[in-house]
Amino acid sequence: MSTVRVRFAPSPTGYLHVGGLRTALYNYLFARRNNGVFLLRIEDTDRSRYVEGAVENLIRTLDWAGLHFDEGPGMGGSAGPYIQSERIATYRAHVEMLLASGNAYYAFDTPAELEDMRKKQEKLRVPVREYRRGLDLTGEEVRRKLAAGAPAVVRMKMPAGETVAFEDIVRGGVEFSTDELDDQVLLKSDGYPTYHLANVVDDHLMGVTHVIRGEEWLPSTPKHVLLYRYFGWEPPRFAHLPLLLNADKSKLSKRQGDVAVEEYRNKGFFPEALVNFVALLGWNPGDEREIFTLEELEKEFTLERVGKSGAVFNIEKLNWMNTEHLRHKPDAELLELTRPFLAAADLRDVADSYVLEVIRLLKERVERPGQFVSTGMYFFRDPDSYDEQAGKKHWKPETASRLRLALSAFRDLATFSPGDIESAVRATATALGTGAGALIHPLRLTVTGLAQGPGLFDLMAVLGKETCIRRIDRGLSVLG
Ligand code: GLU
Repeated sequence: MSTVRVRFAPSPTGYLHVGGLRTALYNYLFARRNNGVFLLRIEDTDRSRYVEGAVENLIRTLDWAGLHFDEGPGMGGSAGPYIQSERIATYRAHVEMLLASGNAYYAFDTPAELEDMRKKQEKLRVPVREYRRGLDLTGEEVRRKLAAGAPAVVRMKMPAGETVAFEDIVRGGVEFSTDELDDQVLLKSDGYPTYHLANVVDDHLMGVTHVIRGEEWLPSTPKHVLLYRYFGWEPPRFAHLPLLLNADKSKLSKRQGDVAVEEYRNKGFFPEALVNFVALLGWNPGDEREIFTLEELEKEFTLERVGKSGAVFNIEKLNWMNTEHLRHKPDAELLELTRPFLAAADLRDVADSYVLEVIRLLKERVERPGQFVSTGMYFFRDPDSYDEQAGKKHWKPETASRLRLALSAFRDLATFSPGDIESAVRATATALGTGAGALIHPLRLTVTGLAQGPGLFDLMAVLGKETCIRRIDRGLSVLG
């Protein structure tokens, strides 16, 4: 068996789509699972879609997700260069081979003529192949036109009335009739190859054994299979991944939510959670498990367990997974992840030990690291408002005098542990002849400004005696 070699071959159009992340992930996992090679190839031959900085951004995003490639731009490898715009001479040479073998030909149709054909084709619903006029030109005529600088493309010759069949690992046997297929342009008039030519030539020269990509490329595959035949090459094996769908089963689109991996990153989603989430968009482990680390996926992933039907992108599930991954993270790592959010809130100087206490108390209550700061702001700043609903519910005419009694009990405490605070609250309640709840709810409101949060005694201990007394005092003057 030859070494498994797979590739992720994005076109750098600006950002990494979550569908692209899934394609990259499945390729990566397949390579790892089979001790193979995962390579990154940049397909940038469509100059009109080129976006400055897109390649760097792509590599950074893959890196963030933990999908490290073995060969690719900036990494080297024996099959480089890995950026298609640096391989133009190679494609040119291969086009010459197809021209020489009669499997491709020059066509000189103007954009207006092509537009005309497109319209006719739309109306008649059959391929209109007037560009085949190119086939009738003699070698001499072609040379003359080229020498005169006539804009030309090179097209592949599609055989008539043939069935192109191939085995897809996900979809099984797939067949296309060549009568439905156009004479695909291989080389454009700007001298750049089209996706189809460059993709096939590179997959062959780079020794790619398995092409794993989105289902939208399935209709292109018969053209590729024919190109392999024209070149006399063994085609790789194909696996086309199911479509990603919105909740309403339409094709996943920007209009219904974020599709760029960076957006999720900026919102504080963990790469582990996003990777776990996209792993299950089309693949399943064959049992009920849903939480996987990348290492676990590397051991479990097989293409045989990739399904054919579209996979729904369910954002609630991603939120849930993010929470699960957060709970499993060591506090020290959460501290690192929280620091940027503290900095953004102008809270750079808070001691690590204090932030760790906050993390310990809020870990079960947040979905993303940013929420240690947003939800937990009362750990860092005195509340400047009080939850109105909770005020209505828990602040009674007698509350202020009760809290004053609790306050003096707190002042007398020599140490301020959760146990000390609890004893003081319970003793005060007993002295007042009420339940502890009559103190706990209004205390929480004065200390945090909120109706809910982690255990009151724990959070007061973290805040410290001085801060609690100051806040209760202030709460009394505002609310009482
Ligand atoms: N450049 C294509 C893309 O942007 C690659 C498709 C393929 O994997 O063949 O998705």
